[in-house]
Amino acid sequence: MSTLTRAGTRRSEEELRALALEGAALDDTDAVAVAKWAAETFPGTLAVACSMAEGVLPHLVSQHAPGVDVLFLETGYHFADTLGTRARVADELDVTVVDVLPELTVAEQDAKYGPRLHDRDPALCCAMRKMEPLARTLGGYEAWVTGVRRDEAPTRTHTPLVTFDEKHGLVKVNPLVTWSLDDVTDYAIEHGVPVNLLLSDGYPSIGCEPCTRRVAPGEDPRAGRWSGLSKTECGIHT
Ligand code: SF4
Repeated sequence: MSTLTRAGTRRSEEELRALALEGAALDDTDAVAVAKWAAETFPGTLAVACSMAEGVLPHLVSQHAPGVDVLFLETGYHFADTLGTRARVADELDVTVVDVLPELTVAEQDAKYGPRLHDRDPALCCAMRKMEPLARTLGGYEAWVTGVRRDEAPTRTHTPLVTFDEKHGLVKVNPLVTWSLDDVTDYAIEHGVPVNLLLSDGYPSIGCEPCTRRVAPGEDPRAGRWSGLSKTECGIHT
């Protein structure tokens, strides 16, 4: 059954799957063309996911989709610098930042499950504070754009450019799949895009504060995420 979006009726799954195939045939080295295609193909029904490490993806997409919704998973556990970057992205870019909120506040979660659930059961904490809110929110869109890059982690080596996201039931567009971290940094400098200061302070991958530590020079950039645990992904992109 179709869901109503701001632009009207959401297209059928069959139509969205066909559009995903169309997008998959694009040149995966041309992020600008991919962002333009996404903006033109999903007018008013496109969302951009952003962790606020920097505002590169919101900037790139907003060039073709002014005012585009930028989804920020507001877990309640972010670094102050991440919240500062969120504020700058909202103020300086032509986007609409949408805080995607969990059902429970941190205080309510602490009361129900005990404090520091992230230390005892990070999978449950991520499920409640990231995955469920994101899934609920994506139901109102036809496509979402993420900044996943193939060079970020072994789990991301085969990330497709455009695909039908089976887990969330919409098209997923990854314009930066072939980019390196240097490419992201170069784009941010060239376009004066807000950048989270933590990136240059030993945090090449930024998540919630309790689950992110500094990494040493030369260390795997994602080694600071859920350090000491087997967990390497929150589950959103896997
Ligand atoms: S990253 Fe940590 S604090 Fe954030 S939602 Fe996941 S387990 Fe909870």
